[in-house]
Amino acid sequence: MRGPVADLGATLMHEHVFGLSPEILWNWPDIPERRDIRQAAAKLDALKAEGIDTIVDLTVVGLGRYVPAVQEVAALTEVNIVAATGLYTYDALPPYFGNRGPGSLFGGPDRLAEFFVRDIAEGIGRTGVKAAILKCATDKPGMTRGCERVFRAVAEAHLETGAPITTHSSEPGGLEQQRLLAECGVDLTNVVIGHAGDSTNLAYLEELLAGGSSLGMDRFGIDTFCSFEDRVATLVTLCERGHAGRLVLGHDSYCFNDRFDADVVRRRHPDYQLLHIPRDVLPELRKRGVTEEQITQMLVDNPRRILGGL
Ligand SMILES: [Zn+2]
Repeated sequence: MRGPVADLGATLMHEHVFGLSPEILWNWPDIPERRDIRQAAAKLDALKAEGIDTIVDLTVVGLGRYVPAVQEVAALTEVNIVAATGLYTYDALPPYFGNRGPGSLFGGPDRLAEFFVRDIAEGIGRTGVKAAILKCATDKPGMTRGCERVFRAVAEAHLETGAPITTHSSEPGGLEQQRLLAECGVDLTNVVIGHAGDSTNLAYLEELLAGGSSLGMDRFGIDTFCSFEDRVATLVTLCERGHAGRLVLGHDSYCFNDRFDADVVRRRHPDYQLLHIPRDVLPELRKRGVTEEQITQMLVDNPRRILGGL
C-alpha cells in the first residue's frame, strides 16, 4: 500500500480506514458488521478528487487493525494508504502482553518490540504490507506502566528500523511522552506529538516544538475537544510564528468505525469526515493569511520528511 516516499504527495498524517471490535462481532451476531470496502474506497476517491494523495492509517493493535481489508480498499482507490504498527492503550496492556515480559506475572522477554520491528521490516501478518510509522498513546491517566512498556518498545523499534513515531496525546501529556522517548535515546525530530491541535495553549505547544517534535494538528472536525474556530486560530498563530515546517494535518477520521453510531456522529459532528480539511480548513487558512508555501509544507514537505526516515 505504501508507495515510494517521494510520491506521497499531499498527505493527511492521522486517519483510519476501519476501526473494528472483532470480539464483539464474533460473539453477538445480531450486531451487523457494516464494514464496506467499496464505500471506504469511494470516500478515499472523493478525497483524491480534492487533491489529497495519501493517508497515514494509524489503526494499530487495540483499534481493530486488520490489514487484509485495508488492502482491498487500497486496490480500489488511487489514494495511497500508509500502514502503521504499535499498540493503542491508555492504561493496561492486553493480557497477552501484560502477563509476559519484565515485571509481569510470568516474566520472560517482552515481545512488543519484536512484533513492531517485524511489521516494519517484513510486513504485517501475512500481507507483506510493511508498516512505515510507529504509534503509541497516553491519555488522561498519564504514563501508566502499560503505556510505558509500549513507549519503550516503540523507541526500541524506532532505533532499530528508523521508522518515525507518532503519538496519541492529551495536554499536558505530550511533554511526558517526549521525556520518556528522549530518555530511550530517540531524537525527537523523528516524533509527531499527535492530537496536539486539541490544545489552544500556545506555551504548551511551543514547549513541545522546542523539544524538537512535530505537532499533529490532526483532529479537525472533532469539535467536542476543540472548536473549528479555535483549531484554525491556533494553527494560524503557529504559522505566523514560523512553525509551519513542523506541523502536520489530519482529522483522525474513520471510513468506518463500529465504535460509533455513524448517524449520531454525522448529526453531532457534521465536519468529522475526510473532506473537511480540503473543503473547509484550507480555504479558511488561506483567508487568514497562511501562504501556499506553508500549506505545502504542512501537507507535502513535512510528511515526506517525517516518513522519509525509512
Ligand atoms: Zn486516531
